[in-house]
Amino acid sequence: MADDARRVGSVSPLNGGPPRLPLARAAAQRDAQRRGEPGLVAALLAAPTTRVLAIGQGNVPVLPGGRLLYLTPGEAATLGAGDGALHVYLGSHQGTDYVGLLLDVGPGHGGRGGPGPLPPLPAIEGATWQELRQIGGELDDLDAGLFTELAALEHWHRAARFCPACGAATQIVQAGWARYCPQDKRDLFPRTDPAVIMAVLDPQDRLLLVHAFAWGANRHSLVAGFTEAGESLEATVRRETLEETGIEVGEVRYIGSQPWPFPRSLMCAFEARALTTEIKVDGVEIECAHWFSRADFDAALADGSIVLPPGASIARAVIEHWRGGPVQEPAWGAM
Ligand SMILES: [Zn+2]
Repeated sequence: MADDARRVGSVSPLNGGPPRLPLARAAAQRDAQRRGEPGLVAALLAAPTTRVLAIGQGNVPVLPGGRLLYLTPGEAATLGAGDGALHVYLGSHQGTDYVGLLLDVGPGHGGRGGPGPLPPLPAIEGATWQELRQIGGELDDLDAGLFTELAALEHWHRAARFCPACGAATQIVQAGWARYCPQDKRDLFPRTDPAVIMAVLDPQDRLLLVHAFAWGANRHSLVAGFTEAGESLEATVRRETLEETGIEVGEVRYIGSQPWPFPRSLMCAFEARALTTEIKVDGVEIECAHWFSRADFDAALADGSIVLPPGASIARAVIEHWRGGPVQEPAWGAM
């Protein structure tokens, strides 16, 4: 995506170009028009040049050094998913076609029939199974895009085996991008839940960070929440900020978005201008909230009183953008 497409309007502290959003990156073309070709996946699995990305319980194989391990169709067949394994067409890049293999989606659609120990990886010294939240920020654009796409599809296929209207077992169609209900004669598609996350700024450009009861010790992040039925993104920004912190928000500006497929969020980031500064947390979800100047922030990070969200998150990208660049955490700031 061109940077210009995500640049917000006039002067603002978050307006020096968009933050690099780790899971919004992609290099492969999705080639959606090919998904309807009869026998597409079977033909690709018969071609030795196809590369297969396997996923199980949200984990994919990763090589030492941090690149994803793409298997040949022959290598992928040794992972024990069986003849009826669920494959999805992910797209192509520089002449190579990429197919996803879902190891744990079943029964009735191949796969291993549910979670269990992930299989050993064929003949690659040191390759390990790893999860998107842990490594997404360090991947290159091709790997980040394909992993994010595959993780989202894995979650959806696990949840969509039965039609939500009539309960009939659904059938995989469109190279894994839709499921067909034979009872209702309709296609079902992957769903995405919009959520907002906001850099709430006071008139001195201090940033509002919150700590939720559910998070690890000292973890601080931006205010965030799901969009409700019949609600705009901007209204969600104002409602969630008020509910969680008691702060009233005026102007709201879009920054950018990234998928967060755990299981199916689309995180939409905003800059939100505070009209009030007195904090009153809800005490249910949010334990505390504080305004941070950049100097306060540096000091709190250095003494360990705040710990930041992981590198793959949009929260981390927006916080670093407000701060003016990548932030180094002390060694004890591990997740
Ligand atoms: Zn149905």
